[in-house]
Parts: sequence; structure tokens; C-alpha cells
Amino acid sequence: MTLDQPSDADRALASEANMTKMWKYVRGFAEKSGSFLHPHQEITEFLVIGLAKHIDELGRPLCPCNFYVDKEAEAKSSEWICACDEMQRYKYCHCLLFVNEDGLPITEYLPEGHEGREIYGVITDPDPSKGRALGKLEEKRGEALKKSGPKPDEAAPPSA
Ligand code: SF4
Repeated sequence: MTLDQPSDADRALASEANMTKMWKYVRGFAEKSGSFLHPHQEITEFLVIGLAKHIDELGRPLCPCNFYVDKEAEAKSSEWICACDEMQRYKYCHCLLFVNEDGLPITEYLPEGHEGREIYGVITDPDPSKGRALGKLEEKRGEALKKSGPKPDEAAPPSA
């Protein structure tokens, strides 16, 4: 597979400071959550640019793979602040930022009927001992919870 590489113009879309912050964050979160960054680094780089650009614009690393009617309002909610609720609950990243060794999203914890299951089938977790902090807490307490969001000028903390 050949993919386009990010150009200098792409990299210039986000500030260097927030690019550095997000690279550090995604590497740390992959390790802590027992997932991997995509084997095609250009995919990760495009996503890091998108996340850093959102910190520049909105003050928070809003997921770069969704369409938002109102980005400002969405940034005030924690649902799609990276690492989003789906990642922290199901260890599923639809952007392919946090994946298994082969670059596939982890889908084994997704509920039946979720589009990730429909698209990819069951992709098992390479390290069940790590990650899914929110999902594991919900299982323990027997109730649906919301993850706590970061302060507005910070990337989400690398809780996994
Ligand atoms: S973890 Fe969630 S917010 Fe972060 S890139 Fe993946 S899908 Fe988007």
C-alpha cells in the first residue's frame, strides 16, 4: 500500500508546540493502553496534525475523524476528546490512531451492531491487561459512566 506523506504545508497547519505535545501523548497512550500506533507512520502523522490543529483552534484535542456541526460545543464535551469515550470504553479507535500490530482497530469489546464490528469483524485485543479504564470501571460498578475531561488547555491525560 502506498500512501501520501504529509507535506510541509500539512505540517504547517498546526503549531509545532502542539504537534510535539500530541506526538508525546499518542506514544504514551499507545504504550499505556496496550495498543500500537499504525505501522504506516504517515497515518499517525496526519492524525497528530489534526489533533494538534484542534488544540490550536479549540484548546482541546478533538477527534479529527468526525464531522461536527458545532466544533466549539463539541470541544466542551469530553466524548470526542482524544482519547475518546469509545477508546476508553471499548479500546476502539475508528481513526486508526491506536490499533493492533497489523494496523487494525480493536473491536472485540464493541457491542453487537456497532459499525466497527460490521466493517472489521472481531479484532482481538493484543493486551487485555492494559487500557479500557472506563469500560473496566463500568463493569466493576455495573453502571454507565462518563470519562472526566482534561482542562481546556491540556491534551487529555494519558489514562488508559
Ligand atoms: S482515540 Fe478516539 S478521539 Fe482519538 S483519534 Fe481515535 S477515535 Fe479519535
